[in-house]
Amino acid sequence: MGSILIKDILLDGRRRNVLIAGKRFQCLDAAESAEAETVIDGRDLALLPGLYNTHTHAPMTLLRGYGDDNPLEVWLHDYVWPSEAGFNNEDIRRGYDIAAREMVRTGTVFFNEMYFGIREAVDAVVRSGLRACIGLTVLEGHPLSMTEEDFDFLKEWQDPTGGRIQWAVTPHALYTVGPDLLKWTAQFAQENGLLLHTHLAETRTEVDNCVKDHGMRPVAYLDSLGLLGPNTVVAHCVHVNDQEADLLAERQVTISHCPCSNMKLGSGIFPYERLIKAGCRITLGTDGASSSNNLDLREAMKFAALLAKVGGNPQLLPSSQIFDWATRCGAEAFGIDAGVIAEGKLADCILVDLENVKMQPCHDLISNFVYSADSSCIAGVICDGHILYQR
Ligand SMILES: [Zn+2]
Repeated sequence: MGSILIKDILLDGRRRNVLIAGKRFQCLDAAESAEAETVIDGRDLALLPGLYNTHTHAPMTLLRGYGDDNPLEVWLHDYVWPSEAGFNNEDIRRGYDIAAREMVRTGTVFFNEMYFGIREAVDAVVRSGLRACIGLTVLEGHPLSMTEEDFDFLKEWQDPTGGRIQWAVTPHALYTVGPDLLKWTAQFAQENGLLLHTHLAETRTEVDNCVKDHGMRPVAYLDSLGLLGPNTVVAHCVHVNDQEADLLAERQVTISHCPCSNMKLGSGIFPYERLIKAGCRITLGTDGASSSNNLDLREAMKFAALLAKVGGNPQLLPSSQIFDWATRCGAEAFGIDAGVIAEGKLADCILVDLENVKMQPCHDLISNFVYSADSSCIAGVICDGHILYQR
């Protein structure tokens, strides 16, 4: 069992010696002389929880900067899907690797993935040391979509990471998967104890077409097919009214808010006040690097906090709250016993460089990290008790 002692690091406003033993924080006030395999000098560092990215399409790093500046429908139909039709397994592997490296360097310890190439996804998680929820993605008419038979893969599967991987069923969206198959994914997820992850209410067009085709708005439509519950994660929820917000809260659905993607695709502004007031479970995601255009969740925190205030209320979504969405709320939504730094919790954390000019002066550590920092302020990343990156 490995151990790490981080000496003299700033944690909760004071200097402490933090001991990690195996996968967990063993002691936050260890003796300076405590024995450990690895010792880190924390004098110029602060310790914060790692970031949990609850909506990604990791191999879309391959399409970073391609098809920019288009609305969602044009971008998907004219750029993304034709390109993806030409991807082979090696391309997808490379996309996962670029994504994993980027996530580690920007302080992410977990990603909730919706894409194709599940074996390549597993390999990337094994190699990078990250945690992930990997989706079995269904998208009717797409050449890489999984079929019902492919799901047998899970029956034989054994986790090579000691618990860092979990699985979800991921029907892409209500406009790319028909009602029968959507219903089947919900049943499969329930029968097999899997999460269900989909896009929901992202654009005005999606809402209008859903009403036209199914006589219901998107939230009610997915609910009528049995998709909404405490094990469901939905990305976006930009276009939801009060009733829908209440239903999402009542069903205890986890919402993944992706501010950068919503802004870039012109999808609209997340209804912060409505969803917060309704008591919804809200977390933070980047979406794919083709619409965000990176996987830097720290940057997404800043955009979310600023976007929340655009309507005229600067008190909406303070830095402490968006940091909570990106850390504790993300971990909780996926049942990961982490997201805060506390004895006994899984050791997922980042080391923040307090000597970096963007962190000075430090009136408020979280404010600096959300509003001022960039990834150059991240000096180290630890996940599941292992150092993934250290400068
Ligand atoms: Zn997405």
